[in-house]
Amino acid sequence: MSDCIFCKIVEGKIPSRKVYEDDDMLAFHDINPCAPVHFMIIPKKHVDSLAHVGPEHAAVLGKMMVKAGSLAREQGSPDGFRTIVNTGRIGRQDVYHLHIHVIGGPNPLPRMIAKE
Ligand code: AMP
Ligand code: ZN
Repeated sequence: MSDCIFCKIVEGKIPSRKVYEDDDMLAFHDINPCAPVHFMIIPKKHVDSLAHVGPEHAAVLGKMMVKAGSLAREQGSPDGFRTIVNTGRIGRQDVYHLHIHVIGGPNPLPRMIAKE
């Protein structure tokens, strides 16, 4: 998609700090990390969000999830990590190209979102 910042990263038109790449997906460090390890895994082919996927996306989404653990360990999160997929207005998604945040580091993260 021409106006999508993550598509531009896939195309190399915007620089990124790459973590992993294959034919279907790309992983790169978040520009504004919220923990010692914070990178994103995205499908190379544009899809807006998890609310927009269909059966045709199952394979790449599965591959992305399967890859998360080994990449997290390689990046310095040896004993677990958190995955977040912000989706749509309610999920406070900012970039409308589906992405899995992988967040971690050497120490435990704060607990999940605060209860209201
Ligand atoms: P979300 O709220 O889930 O849509 O998060 C979008 C994430 O993309 C944020 O954590 C941003 O810091 C990150 N981000 C935005 N632009 C870039 C970029 N050019 N390179 C790397 N990460 C980015
Ligand atoms: Zn895109």
